[in-house]
Amino acid sequence: MSAVVVVGSFNVDHVWRCDALPAPGATIAGQYHTGPGGKGFNQAIAAARGGAATTFLCALGEDAGGAMARELARQDGLTLNAEASDQPTGTGGIYVDSRGRNTIVIGAGANAALSVGFIEAQHALLASASVLLAQLESPMDTVEAALASARNAGVTTVLNAAPANAPTSISLLKLADILTPNETEFASLLARHVGERLEPDDVAATDGSTLHQLCRQLLPAGTVVITLGAVGAFVSHAEDQLRGDTQPYYRIAAEQAQTIDTTGAGDAFNGALVASLAHAPSAAFAQHVRFANRFAARSTEAEGAAASMPRLTPEG
Ligand code: ATP
Repeated sequence: MSAVVVVGSFNVDHVWRCDALPAPGATIAGQYHTGPGGKGFNQAIAAARGGAATTFLCALGEDAGGAMARELARQDGLTLNAEASDQPTGTGGIYVDSRGRNTIVIGAGANAALSVGFIEAQHALLASASVLLAQLESPMDTVEAALASARNAGVTTVLNAAPANAPTSISLLKLADILTPNETEFASLLARHVGERLEPDDVAATDGSTLHQLCRQLLPAGTVVITLGAVGAFVSHAEDQLRGDTQPYYRIAAEQAQTIDTTGAGDAFNGALVASLAHAPSAAFAQHVRFANRFAARSTEAEGAAASMPRLTPEG
């Protein structure tokens, strides 16, 4: 039995560090490295390193990228159930300039072929989990099927509504018990589903009561956790579902960190949050957010995404 099931993407990231981002038609030199990526895989590794028995459901090609995913999952004690695809394993082509700015091309490949049928065949696994975590780098109907299957079995559902430009529907959002956007994703969900404009840079400074009202309009019956980077996180609960907290909304400051690379901090937060929820389902929700903040802060102290996830459990 897995306490946590993560449904999502795996990519092989190809990264070039260059002085400047290449202009159209240019050929430039850069320092190359490759490694695992994809929000689903990063979050699954975080949940596993956060101490949860974790299964990752994804789609992989029959290629070196697929073999890499299986080997890395094995090394981390992560159970990997992959739908075999005739598409290549997902890839990311990433240029990073000397100021840390990047340009990214994603080849979704097998990730775009993760099917509803495959997820439906995993119903017994989903129904036996404590928590299901999904993101939006997989087909929307597949994500919706996973959330619905878990929800119908009484499993806590967490949706990290990332990336910000992924299409979403109200019916999809309503399947989430807990929604975890960052500031950009929150602003884009508000614009799309509530008809409110809020600049991502203004989210952290918006007063709590206003943010709470906006969260209630976005997800009336669930909990919204907005991650605020180095500021921490904002939590908003439905008034009749406080999840062990005493306040319907509050902020929790980020943990101090010797930050060198924030790539994957959001993935670290999400994986740690579900690991903590699975570990102590009836604990006050603020306790889970504190652990997620601590875990994510540690992840910023090393380079990379999956590789930078700390081994840190809710027990300490
Ligand atoms: P990314 O896209 O870089 O993976 P994100 O935009 O999805 O991240 P953020 O809101 O930037 O997510 O960060 C997620 C969490 O990571 C924050 O809520 C916080 O707990 C932690 N965090 C991020 N940056 C820092 C930092 N500089 N110091 C301490 N904690 C941080």
